[in-house]
Amino acid sequence: MRYPKLRELKEAIVSLVTPPATTKFPYKPHVPAPAFRGKPVVNDAECVGCLTCSNVCPSGAITVSDDAVQKIRTITRDFGKCIFCGQCEAYCITAKGVVLSHTIFDLSTFHKESLTEQQHKELIVCEHCGSVITTREHLHFIYDKLGTKAWSSLLTLRALNTRLQLAGEEETSTPPGDGLRRKDMFRILCPNCMRNIQVKLLL
Ligand code: SF4
Ligand code: SF4
Repeated sequence: MRYPKLRELKEAIVSLVTPPATTKFPYKPHVPAPAFRGKPVVNDAECVGCLTCSNVCPSGAITVSDDAVQKIRTITRDFGKCIFCGQCEAYCITAKGVVLSHTIFDLSTFHKESLTEQQHKELIVCEHCGSVITTREHLHFIYDKLGTKAWSSLLTLRALNTRLQLAGEEETSTPPGDGLRRKDMFRILCPNCMRNIQVKLLL
């Protein structure tokens, strides 16, 4: 019993002459530790709307809705649900679409809706069946990443055609008629519709 009492006395004396471990926040600004992750910050100009961050977010803070008629993808980030885990930054395909602030931590508010941020991205939809393919920015990000290898995918023919003019305007401006034909390979088609053309060519 004697030694514990002495130890507590020693701790009391030491704490009298050392600075406090806690800060006086919110009365004084708090500076987080260097390794603190903090609230993620979105850079819309660098985000291509690929959905990767939505798929890896463990708390469901990032949701996505696609409007195939208006051709708009809406990405909603509810930072009220964010746990500052950093998965969105770690897996962002552009590495710049969302980055951790390392400083922002105080999100307390009486208005939860103020913690929600939205982005809108133009969608590419299949010209034949209307299925969502991806966003325009995501598609161009993939083309730039692949370089000349982009030629290996028939899905890229339309976009490459706008740069190289392989097919004339009259061939690509008429909408698909009854059934897909060979000329429709120069359209934006989902993999299923593109496969239908290829199967026809093989038969
Ligand atoms: S930091 Fe984690 S919880 Fe927050 S949005 Fe990114 S992935 Fe989701
Ligand atoms: S992973 Fe990056 S580029 Fe893709 S939607 Fe998220 S922030 Fe944007």
